[in-house]
Amino acid sequence: MVRRLALACAFLPSLAASPALAQGPRPSQGRLPTLVVHLTVDQMRADYLERFFPQLSGGLGRLMRGGAWFTNAYQDHAMSETAPGHATTLSGRNPNSTGIYRNDEGVGDNTLRGSLLEQLVPGASPWRFRGTTLFDWMHARWPRSRALSVSRKDRGAILPVGRSKQQVYWYQGGQFTTSRYYADTLPGWVRAFNAAAVAARAPGRRWDLLLDTLRDPSAYPEPDSMDFERQGRDFVFPHVLPADTLDAATAFIATPWMDSLTLALALEGVQRLGLGRGPQPDLLAISLSATDYIGHAYGPDSREQHDQILRLDRWLGAFLDSLARLRDTTRIVISLTADHGVTSFPEWWNRHGDFHAQWVSLAGMVRADSIALAARAGPGRWIRYFETGLLVMDRAGLRAHGVDVDSVVNAIATEVRALPPVLRVDTRRSLAARDTASDWIARRWLNLAPPDLPAELFVTLKPHMSWAAGAYAQHGQPTDDDTHVPIILYGPPYRPGTFAERVSVVDIAPTIARVLGIRPAQRVQGSILRQALR
Ligand SMILES: [Zn+2]
Repeated sequence: MVRRLALACAFLPSLAASPALAQGPRPSQGRLPTLVVHLTVDQMRADYLERFFPQLSGGLGRLMRGGAWFTNAYQDHAMSETAPGHATTLSGRNPNSTGIYRNDEGVGDNTLRGSLLEQLVPGASPWRFRGTTLFDWMHARWPRSRALSVSRKDRGAILPVGRSKQQVYWYQGGQFTTSRYYADTLPGWVRAFNAAAVAARAPGRRWDLLLDTLRDPSAYPEPDSMDFERQGRDFVFPHVLPADTLDAATAFIATPWMDSLTLALALEGVQRLGLGRGPQPDLLAISLSATDYIGHAYGPDSREQHDQILRLDRWLGAFLDSLARLRDTTRIVISLTADHGVTSFPEWWNRHGDFHAQWVSLAGMVRADSIALAARAGPGRWIRYFETGLLVMDRAGLRAHGVDVDSVVNAIATEVRALPPVLRVDTRRSLAARDTASDWIARRWLNLAPPDLPAELFVTLKPHMSWAAGAYAQHGQPTDDDTHVPIILYGPPYRPGTFAERVSVVDIAPTIARVLGIRPAQRVQGSILRQALR
């Protein structure tokens, strides 16, 4: 069963829509949904859906055409990264409330001996996550409700369900696994799935374009020959998995097949765990990561990303068809969003009219400032980090050594402000003085930083700039490129149509809660999207 599903998803270019879901949602007549499906596509910018709309004939197309599609939605916070983005999806709260404000302080947990299958790497858990999520609210109302959350990434699987100890699996070292926070052994069905899934990452497997460019030469308008992609290596189709088994397993995660495998695991879990049978609602959270890996390597303007979105669309269609055969679709509600967007390569901008776009690194400055601070206060990690525009220092330690921290911070701010690619440099005080309704940069920084984070400076770059991090396309800034994401709500309770008003990803959880007839167990920052409800 496992093999059939995994390979069906992997190899079929497109599947006919099942009658049940193809007809679109039918009124629920007030019946309680029994399965809440939440999909997060890692790094999917909102514009992808519009750019590729005519070619999206699978699951994405079905959700867009049959659901409530919000075209002006945002992960409305700075540090637009995977961990903060996934923590907002089903909590109804921004990073300043969830406490998950950057990847590096996401789900890594050194107190765990490691994940179940990879004892050498640090474990992962939601120990930094603050507060509750939609699933906690569901579980409080229906103690028999269960959740399954799957992703390629640990943070993508863990954070949508918050601190709940449910069935949470991610892909590590060629296997789907979990950590000791959740379980002491891996269930038999996940082990069987792993054994059957080895074929998916076969050495030499070839990634060709999905659409036939002989029949339709205009199918992919993007040039395939941009030599800044993937650091100048292997940037032209076809892409072939390495001949070595281990190398192939590593390269596999950055191919479209990773998403088909993740969807197949989710489907297998629905069957093995009996999710969505009712009478209580269950939660199925799926985070699909291939778009992020492909986007980093080739960029948002690449032929590779275009092809990935088309393949994702087809696999999502196959997934929805399979789900429709397993469960009553009139009792399924589906939501789809992304954790963040991405900025085009500066080199792409240089060839498309912005000659000022460039990579920006503060590494040299941080090194010099660290040496200067060590000369005054002795050895120490006085600058904890200065990354993606956020400066955090050891203020208490410096003060204890007689350093006037404010004057140090002011000097650094002056130095950074003088750099041509820098748009503005803020402090907590300057952010607090701004009108957050009109100043969206201030609002996104404020939505990011928890009150107890000792953040000194918030640096925002000019448009089209990228923080240097290995010459891969980057995200993480408070720009629209990095924060504009899709939101689609699909199923009987939702009113199909396109909605252009500005909304936020934190609105998803309170809206689903309303559909389920429950209330958030704490104050949330999002609002119910009433315009999308029937
Ligand atoms: Zn990323």
